[in-house]
Amino acid sequence: MRFRSTRSGGSADLVSALVAGLAPDGGLYVPETLPAFSPEDFDGAETPAQVGEILLAPFFAGSALADALPEVLAETFGFDVPLRPVDGASTPLSVLELFHGPTAAFKDVGARFLAACLQRIEDARGADERPVTPVTILVATSGDTGGAVAAAFHRRPGFRVVVLFPLGMVSPRQQQQLTCWGDNVVSVAVRGNFDDCQRLVKSAFADAELAGRHRFSSANSINIGRLLPQSVYYAHAALAHWRERGEASSVIVPTGNLGNGLAAVMARAMGLPMGDVVFATNANRTIADYLEEGEYRARPSVRTLASAMDVGDPSNMERLRNLFGEADRLRGSVEARVVEDDVIREQIRRDYAHYGLIECPHTATAMHVWETLPAERREGQHWIAVATAHAAKFPEVVEPLIGTSVPVPDALADLLALPTHYEEIEPAPTALGRVLDADA
Ligand SMILES: *Cc1c(COP(=O)(O)O)cnc(C)c1O
Repeated sequence: MRFRSTRSGGSADLVSALVAGLAPDGGLYVPETLPAFSPEDFDGAETPAQVGEILLAPFFAGSALADALPEVLAETFGFDVPLRPVDGASTPLSVLELFHGPTAAFKDVGARFLAACLQRIEDARGADERPVTPVTILVATSGDTGGAVAAAFHRRPGFRVVVLFPLGMVSPRQQQQLTCWGDNVVSVAVRGNFDDCQRLVKSAFADAELAGRHRFSSANSINIGRLLPQSVYYAHAALAHWRERGEASSVIVPTGNLGNGLAAVMARAMGLPMGDVVFATNANRTIADYLEEGEYRARPSVRTLASAMDVGDPSNMERLRNLFGEADRLRGSVEARVVEDDVIREQIRRDYAHYGLIECPHTATAMHVWETLPAERREGQHWIAVATAHAAKFPEVVEPLIGTSVPVPDALADLLALPTHYEEIEPAPTALGRVLDADA
């Protein structure tokens, strides 16, 4: 399959799209067509990796990576993505737990898949064609992305990761996850905000000489390699319920840049047994306003408790509109609900009291949307609330609300015990250039 840009319509094969990230015209790559499946096509596929082999085969067909897909998926889904029924819920509700990866958030799935693909692309270069300098994955992060990308590329031969984060503006546990790697991961604290970090990355990419010397590549969330594997856990969850009960599942997805939500819409469009797809956002209401008013207005992000969703101009909106139409058409197939901070707090408290569930602030937005659905919509069908991160990543928020400490999963505990190291720089391109050269 080929992937076309959302803008000029120019297209690329899978490998080029993965390596480039962004299309040359500044657009995002989308599949030229979406394959059509029926649930029976997945008969015999039990694990997420097995489901993924069938679901993603058409996207990999004809590419140099086609034969590697099973291995790539096995590497990606080295952890569970369980669908757990919520005991005590008034109508059928399950939580899709996407936080069992190394950095305890769903971004591990996309980051690991992309890393596994890029590794194979790099390895496939002939020995004499292979440059001695490693590829430098340059990533600016406001919290979760940097840790997932660092974990995914840690100790991969031929790669180096340089993570930029805003000093003093990430949570203590996020900072730990950004700075605990060592080896081929360089952590850089920028004396500035997230926008400064992004600006530095852009200017480094734009510096042809620097970019050439360090073979820059990006692993940010607009890479098609982060999007595709996310459809796999929706397919896996929907099939599990379909096989057991013969009914479709509707999903509620905590949403920021809309990568996860778009993956759900794509899985449904490919024929998986899914009903409604609802995006739950925090107070950043760009998507909800767009669907309601029909006019897209990007705006500055506002800070909320669900900080990984603090996005005022969701990057995957461009893909959603390109693939599935503008607001008047989208309204019939997706919806968005806004959940404010005080409601998030109250939801975390209540779900702990009612169900014993300990949830992160992002997950709480989805739980709230489920709870406030009209009764007749809640009743007639199976709902899935997506849990995007483990609550132990956000103890400052969650613990005071539930009045007890959040148990830390083993993988996260291991990271929290590691020594950390980072370099501090001014938000100036020359300062970043020095770090890049010094460490090479
Ligand atoms: C990134 C993130 C989100 C938002 O996901 P998008 O794909 O950007 O919409 C939600 N929750 C958590 C915990 C995240 O890290």
